[in-house]
Amino acid sequence: MTAMAQTSLQVPGLAVAASPPAVELRGATKVYASEPAVAAVDLSVQPGEFFSILGPSGCGKTTLLRAIAGFETLTAGEIRIGGQVANDLPAYRRPVNTVFQSYALFNHLTVAENIAFGLRIARRPKVEVSERVQAALASVRLDSFATRYPNQLSGGQRQRVALARALINRPTVLLLDEPLGALDLKLRKEMQVELSRLHQELGLTFIMVTHDQEEALSLSERIAVLRAGRIEQIGTPSEIYERPQTAFVADFIGDTNLFVGEIETQDDSTLVVRTAAGLPVRARGVLSGVTGAIVSIRPEKIALSFVSPPPADNCFAGHLRHAMYLGTHVQAVVAIADTEVEVLVRQPNHPERPLIRGTAVYLTWSAADCIAFDREPGAAPGI
Ligand code: ADP
Ligand code: MG
Repeated sequence: MTAMAQTSLQVPGLAVAASPPAVELRGATKVYASEPAVAAVDLSVQPGEFFSILGPSGCGKTTLLRAIAGFETLTAGEIRIGGQVANDLPAYRRPVNTVFQSYALFNHLTVAENIAFGLRIARRPKVEVSERVQAALASVRLDSFATRYPNQLSGGQRQRVALARALINRPTVLLLDEPLGALDLKLRKEMQVELSRLHQELGLTFIMVTHDQEEALSLSERIAVLRAGRIEQIGTPSEIYERPQTAFVADFIGDTNLFVGEIETQDDSTLVVRTAAGLPVRARGVLSGVTGAIVSIRPEKIALSFVSPPPADNCFAGHLRHAMYLGTHVQAVVAIADTEVEVLVRQPNHPERPLIRGTAVYLTWSAADCIAFDREPGAAPGI
């Protein structure tokens, strides 16, 4: 057994089997009419992990989550929960519970009655129900709201009730489908902190679906980026941001500049891509067997100067087209001279030198900060 495969607590001197993944998908595929909504998805979520599935609207996130919950049967592939094949297990027998974006609360029941609903149906003894409702209310900090009705609560409080209702059955895996999607920005931020606290306190496995990359980056231990039903990359937030494996991931996570063109020259460490507008962009990296490439450079990796800069791998003159003040940072769009190419730049605020539209500037960046990708079909249009 390798240290990496070991996921359970190790007791010195005892051979402890690694716990199986909390949820594992192998070749998970779901076809509705003809197009697959989810295609050949492999992923493995470890016990206690906060795992996110991130992707644009319509990419298959909800379908994947519903398949894990048991509300959807896979067309092909295998799903294991806690090491057991669960394809044929009905939803109510799976040790998972789902929190939906629309809270799906009963408006004619109080908060406590909403939370107790599942246990009542299961005919649990009254004392047990009341104790568990109290504990669930406490875990989401709604102790004093037991007798209120959903329409007497804020959006954030309703979502907490939905969380408590999902937690009361003591699932081992909590599935969250865009749980904060209906909340305004401020509440969303508060509930993100709340979710993170709950995850730490409960020690459960969380699988959250979201289209909000910032939310996924800030909450998750690992993220699967989904595109048109397929996984583009699985990794920690910093791996996904710093080392995207495809131009789609680079473009979807954070802001980036994508230069698309033909590979002009290439040696064993660096390549030069000539864009359609004629810009030569130098990037560290090697691509074999392709002629076209996309080069990604993050806006914060580009230096902006008002005087001619020292030599750099990439250096272009241009003028400021827009500048946006962001407090600690400024964000600027620079039009490269003699082309229509616009480059997004972000840098710490220099109050001594305001960014005025039309000002002549220089942009420089290092080839090592660029990432080069194959120019795959259907890739982002780039510049
Ligand atoms: P997401 O949650 O990422 O927005 P969904 O999983 O809801 O995406 O949908 C993925 C694709 O599957 C979409 O093209 C959607 O139209 C399709 N789809 C989802 N549910 C059904 C259904 N019940 N019947 C037919 N097509 C569906
Ligand atoms: Mg969805």
